[in-house]
Amino acid sequence: MSKYVYGFAEGNRFMADLLGGKGANLAEMTVMGLPVPPGFTITTDACRAYLATGAVPEGLAEEVDEHLHALERAMGRKLGQIDEPLLVAVRSGARFSMPGMMDTVLDIGLTDDSVAGLAAWSGDERLAWDSYRRLVQMFGTTVLGVDAQLFASALRDAKRAKGVTGDLDLDAGDLRALTARFKEIVREHAGREFPQDPREQLDLAIMSVFASWHTDRARTYRRAEHIPEDLGTAVNVCAMVFGNLGEDSGTGVAFTRDPATGAPGVYGDYLADAQGEDVVAGIRNTLPLHRLADLQPRAYDQLMNIMATLEEHYRDLCDIEFTIERGRLWMLQTRVGKRTAAAAFRIADALREEGLIDADEALRRVTGAQLAQLMFPRFAATDATPIATGVAASPGAAVGEVVFDSATAVRRAEEGTAVILVRRETNPDDLDGLIHARGVLTSRGGKTSHAAVVARGLGRTCVCGAESLTIDTHGRRFTTADGTIVAEGDVISVDGTAGAVYLDEMAVVASPVVDYFEGRTPPESDDLLLAVHRIITHADRRHRLEVRANADTPADAARARRLGATGIGLCRTEHMFLGDRRVLVERLILADGDAERTAALAALLPLQREDFSRILAEMDGLPVTIRLLDPPLHEFLPDRTDLTARVAVANALGNADAAADELLRAVNRLHEQNPMLGTRGVRLGLVIPGLYDLQVRAIAEAAAARALAGGTPHAEIMIPLIGDARELEIVAERARHILAEVAAESGVDLPLEIGTMIELPRAALTAGRIAETARFFSFGTNDLTQTVWGFSRDDVEASFFPTYLAEGIFAVSPFETIDRDGVGTLIDIAVHEGRAVRPDLALGVCGEHGGDPASIRFFHEVGLDYVSCSPFRVPIARLETGRAAVGEAGAATDNR
Ligand code: ADP
Ligand code: MG
Ligand code: MG
Repeated sequence: MSKYVYGFAEGNRFMADLLGGKGANLAEMTVMGLPVPPGFTITTDACRAYLATGAVPEGLAEEVDEHLHALERAMGRKLGQIDEPLLVAVRSGARFSMPGMMDTVLDIGLTDDSVAGLAAWSGDERLAWDSYRRLVQMFGTTVLGVDAQLFASALRDAKRAKGVTGDLDLDAGDLRALTARFKEIVREHAGREFPQDPREQLDLAIMSVFASWHTDRARTYRRAEHIPEDLGTAVNVCAMVFGNLGEDSGTGVAFTRDPATGAPGVYGDYLADAQGEDVVAGIRNTLPLHRLADLQPRAYDQLMNIMATLEEHYRDLCDIEFTIERGRLWMLQTRVGKRTAAAAFRIADALREEGLIDADEALRRVTGAQLAQLMFPRFAATDATPIATGVAASPGAAVGEVVFDSATAVRRAEEGTAVILVRRETNPDDLDGLIHARGVLTSRGGKTSHAAVVARGLGRTCVCGAESLTIDTHGRRFTTADGTIVAEGDVISVDGTAGAVYLDEMAVVASPVVDYFEGRTPPESDDLLLAVHRIITHADRRHRLEVRANADTPADAARARRLGATGIGLCRTEHMFLGDRRVLVERLILADGDAERTAALAALLPLQREDFSRILAEMDGLPVTIRLLDPPLHEFLPDRTDLTARVAVANALGNADAAADELLRAVNRLHEQNPMLGTRGVRLGLVIPGLYDLQVRAIAEAAAARALAGGTPHAEIMIPLIGDARELEIVAERARHILAEVAAESGVDLPLEIGTMIELPRAALTAGRIAETARFFSFGTNDLTQTVWGFSRDDVEASFFPTYLAEGIFAVSPFETIDRDGVGTLIDIAVHEGRAVRPDLALGVCGEHGGDPASIRFFHEVGLDYVSCSPFRVPIARLETGRAAVGEAGAATDNR
């Protein structure tokens, strides 16, 4: 029989799959000897079993009994006993942190009988009734499903009746009456009494935490964070400690370093005489953590020691939740904390400098996605006066129209408008709005508020606690300190790096990190740049996959090289036939007979040669893989509908134009129902005599000229859309013939390699045959994904992908991250078949996936030699190829 319950002393931080992150870390702290209230964890196995069958799994009740008794023995009190009641918290906690997404119920065990016992034990009647009304309220909403508004308005009524505004102004008698009112609300709206049996409270709360895995907001969060749907949550049952026993009690959250900047030194918020989520909810104004040093020097010193111990133990930034009960410190939670991208780099480098981790581990601690965030533009320096300032909670430069609620944020964003969500404070129901907004602005709360934590997790820009703003959510406007009114739809700029808000759209400039990569700023000028520099240079030392770039122009090639590309993996030639060269291409397509065609090709030759020699010059000494013409020819001709209309009008007006007529006939002849699968790639090379010959000659002549001028050209010729080995043999045979001709003419040896794209399933499946001719393969994963799935990318992404993502058919678009099971299997087959025939076959990938972190990991594993991506993503790919080489982080890290 499986074991469903673990005492805190039985677990450790590596058991997060089973105990959830919170449970595993509570166990770790318990075993470390830190002051954790006693308790136990019900496993994710039990949750999955419950969710699958709808019933409590067999044996769970007995195990809970056993552990509850142990807890009662440790505390010397029984759950809900009438004189000195033991109360417990029932807390959700999944493998990956989902802040505030699932349920937690505090003060379980209080009943009409035991509330007096709590008053006597604590000597605080107000505390007892405040705890009881909180329990009825929390239990009523989360476990019994009563509308939270009903309790909130009853609380408002109670305060109004008394003529006060703060919760703290209600005395024991008021709270007693309020509790009675809350119980009535439960009776009316839940169709049952608030349970008076402590054990029944506990069991119902446990099941409700299980069930909270499936709430809409939890699902939405998992989708946004790519957390699998089938993990389930653990449930932690933990003895209650009280932060609301007066001024010598309180509760707080803290980080061992600043999670926004990564700067060393603890950081946090504290609230005296408070319980539970009062801190993060932004209901009352918190104190900065260092003020605790005066208020509670002993507890403060102990807390500082514990935080240092935790950071050394976890070798990373930790965040913690703690409560002080009458001067005594209790640790309620810790985990490796979420952080901004800049903080991730600074902290990883600092911990390496401090000797806590090595350089490989520092590399594991940062991600390509975080580096991408650092490369986003930011606001230019400005003289403009901010309309408000607040806490710089999540960096970035966000510009958008102001909206005041999540539903509007979602709707406007789906219409394609950039929006900024403005709220007094956010709560878990705002998640959808936060996902859809470019940035979020709140008037309450600090760096640990809900808005700040979630924005950092999602990579959204956030300024919070802009207290000078008066936000009128119902009136859909806010007012600044000087009386300026900003209404829904007005544009503002939110600078999450500086914590400032501006009216209108502000100019943006390149990020300092991009300036560093471009060689414009030395890394020593700033600690963030230095951290990025050290980590990426280590990645370059460790990677096995080379990073090339997709670049079609000399300028792109130069940029790619500056950013660290060691070659061009895909140089497309189609744009070389556009612009003023279009007429030449028209002539080629419309050519009547060999002579006209040859003339058109001859006119193109010097232009193409020049294109290639400039790129080869920029990339001197590095490989440049040039792909022969790929797109269907109609793309070079005028639009069919336009031209048809034009010809029809001209004819109707009696101005018939023979050239236009001829063009239209050609356009109609070349028209295809499904160009993606039509006459393109190698098929063009086979049906248009001389086209590929021209391109090969231009490449060969450019390389020869460059070699004669003392350069080291390293061009490779790549044939697109091969489906059968014979196609390649024909084209390669002709190409070799031309290379030999140019070699003879120029006197330069031209050993250019000829290879192919693998972008059709048939090519992957017959890769062995193809490798007899091809010297290299480059996986064109965009087309390969289209043809493996039978998706036309242009059509499907907007039409049914949202449904597929929502249904979980895929967690992320296969055009973004390689589909390992389908496309990946074909790549694996092609790699093995190809290398079996030609062991030194060079293997690369071009296409969007070449710059995607998760895909890079796959390409590393499957044994490719390089990835090729757009120049801007080269630094990200450098980082990720290094990360792929140093392997996964330890099991205890939650780096989502
Ligand atoms: P979340 O995952 O949303 O952070 P928690 O389970 O950590 O939920 O609970 C939220 C808050 O409830 C904690 O920050 C803490 O202040 C309070 N809390 C949890 N357990 C206890 C306890 N045993 N005693 C007192 N307060 C608790
Ligand atoms: Mg918590
Ligand atoms: Mg292609």
